[in-house]
Amino acid sequence: MTPALELLNRVFGYPAFRGPQQAIIEHVASGGDSLVLMPTGGGKSLCFQIPAMLRAGCGIVVSPLIALMRDQVAALNEAGVKAAFLNSSLDGASAARIERQLLAGDLDLLYIAPERLLGERTRSLLARAQISLFAIDEAHCVSQWGHDFRPEYGELGFLATDFPAVPRIALTATADELTRREIITKLQLEQAQVFISSFDRPNIRYEIVPRANAHTQLLEFLRERHLFDDSAEEDEDGAAAPARKAAVHKPAARKATAPAAASRRPALRHNGGIIYRISRAKTEDTANFLTEHGFNALPYHAGLDAQTREETQARFSNEPDLIVTATIAFGMGIDKPDVRFVAHLDLPRNIEAYYQETGRAGRDGAPADAWMTYSLSDIVTQRRMIDESEANELFKRVSRQKLDALVGMAESAGCRRVRLLTYFGEASQPCGNCDNCLNPPRTFDGTELAQKALSAVYRTGQRFGAGHVIDVLLGKTTERVTNLRHDQLSTFGIGKDTSETQWRAVFRQMVALGYLYADSEAYGVLKLEDAARAVLKGETPVQLREETAAPKKSRDRKTRNSAKTRSQSGSAASTQINPGTPEDDLFEALRGWRAGVAREHGIPAFVVFHDSTLEAIAVAKPASLAAMRAISGVGEAKLARYGTALLALIEEHAGNPA
Ligand code: ADP
Ligand code: ZN
Repeated sequence: MTPALELLNRVFGYPAFRGPQQAIIEHVASGGDSLVLMPTGGGKSLCFQIPAMLRAGCGIVVSPLIALMRDQVAALNEAGVKAAFLNSSLDGASAARIERQLLAGDLDLLYIAPERLLGERTRSLLARAQISLFAIDEAHCVSQWGHDFRPEYGELGFLATDFPAVPRIALTATADELTRREIITKLQLEQAQVFISSFDRPNIRYEIVPRANAHTQLLEFLRERHLFDDSAEEDEDGAAAPARKAAVHKPAARKATAPAAASRRPALRHNGGIIYRISRAKTEDTANFLTEHGFNALPYHAGLDAQTREETQARFSNEPDLIVTATIAFGMGIDKPDVRFVAHLDLPRNIEAYYQETGRAGRDGAPADAWMTYSLSDIVTQRRMIDESEANELFKRVSRQKLDALVGMAESAGCRRVRLLTYFGEASQPCGNCDNCLNPPRTFDGTELAQKALSAVYRTGQRFGAGHVIDVLLGKTTERVTNLRHDQLSTFGIGKDTSETQWRAVFRQMVALGYLYADSEAYGVLKLEDAARAVLKGETPVQLREETAAPKKSRDRKTRNSAKTRSQSGSAASTQINPGTPEDDLFEALRGWRAGVAREHGIPAFVVFHDSTLEAIAVAKPASLAAMRAISGVGEAKLARYGTALLALIEEHAGNPA
């Protein structure tokens, strides 16, 4: 056993390294610089934590978010590692104590906020300390192109000049070429070995649907996929029945998982997740809507005061079922491993953002959903945001291209994952786990429809949005149509045989394919692009995807209860617990116990043990400390601290099954 593997096993309780972890750890431990590109949940933290423990001195971790630092340090301390953080949340005395520990060689890892690291005081402190390595987490923060841009990150190049002998490792889950180059230059990592993992997140199921009514569609999605079986049972045939009707009587064991909020407890048992919305007001709307329908939901956006935001974030960490409706202000630094879905009710700004936000689902490797609704108006809104931003022309142009790439993916009839990975420069095969793979959309020769659409835009003078042009195509005599005498046009009524839903899809695809341009300055007025001419002349055939009138019921019986099968983990510790079994009861009891410990220690529940570890315990029911130690996620420190309590809980349960 190598020293690294020995640490992995003894401290973290894991049996084996994942993917490139071992290679990275060996490289860093032997003093090499590296740039690590690995998707969220890939296991980046161990890539610097273990080398920091193997090498003499303390590893300095630059991390941009206080919440993230706190959780990581808490997790390390739980595992018995000497770790601490220095940031603005500490008072002077605590900071001084940590500085003394650093100088005395009492720390293996020290997390520091970037602005603090740049300060004179810290720089002189570090000059006096023995440092094993520098880890620059969330390294994409150097990039001015991303929305996580942190100016201080751009100055971290000084680490290379001030500490030439100390290895540096930069880590990020953002993969595109531009960001990668910026990281290398700004952090002076020209000599670094680059480790690129596959960016595929196989356990995430991608699904993108046209938006009709966002809230109704969301409700249907949640009911079909994220309500627990017993909640959903009464709902068997009447999906439209109000969710409250599906309220369940919670068995006694389950109460333990939600002690603090018992009085506010909503009616339904459901998975936790994140719902992204484009504006603050919409996050509030959606949270209210979900609450009214019996879900445990809260809004999160930059307009809320700091305390409320912090409370919501803490509740999100601790309540397995909380749904947070958020703007992009929420998510970075959220370490929660068991987010079962990420939903976008509005189009994000580009593929990077989509990938990053959906990537917050399923870090534990168990099945998770990335579900999005969008419509043409979203493209207009996003374009307007680009146009109205303060950025320079180059930035705007790049931003528009990035948005176009996302729209192209949303309108694609091919595998979503292939599109996504291609964007990040990775080749792959159709995945079998996205909407287009599971229910391949029919495509057809849409040249004639495209021509009708384009000529209707042209005949109406390129002065209207899709709504009015579609009215004309359908031959509707609306007030506007009559007033403008558009019922006299040759294109009036020529699209009667095609449904309005399909027409909307045609227009979205015409925009995605670059034949039409939705002018954001003029509220989505459609204009012809140069390429449209060839289509009108019949020189370019157009292949379109078919859109069925009602969003199709794509879920089969097996996937319907994904809440129930939450434990079908793709990881090595994969177990499966069916509801209502003794294992399920034990699992719930373990979660209740964990909630108590987390509260007592003031740390998030997942820092104590992951769900996957509790599941493995519930299935294996270890009867001795040695057997408990063999469970993935139970290292020496946790065994010493919790082993006996866990054994007692298991025994109690065996003698007294619920
Ligand atoms: P990232 O920072 O890349 O998003 P993390 O470092 O937080 O990912 O790791 C994701 C999860 O996977 C964590 O809960 C971590 O404990 C777990 N993990 C990492 N490496 C391993 C491993 N070799 N075996 C088992 N679990 C692992
Ligand atoms: Zn696919």
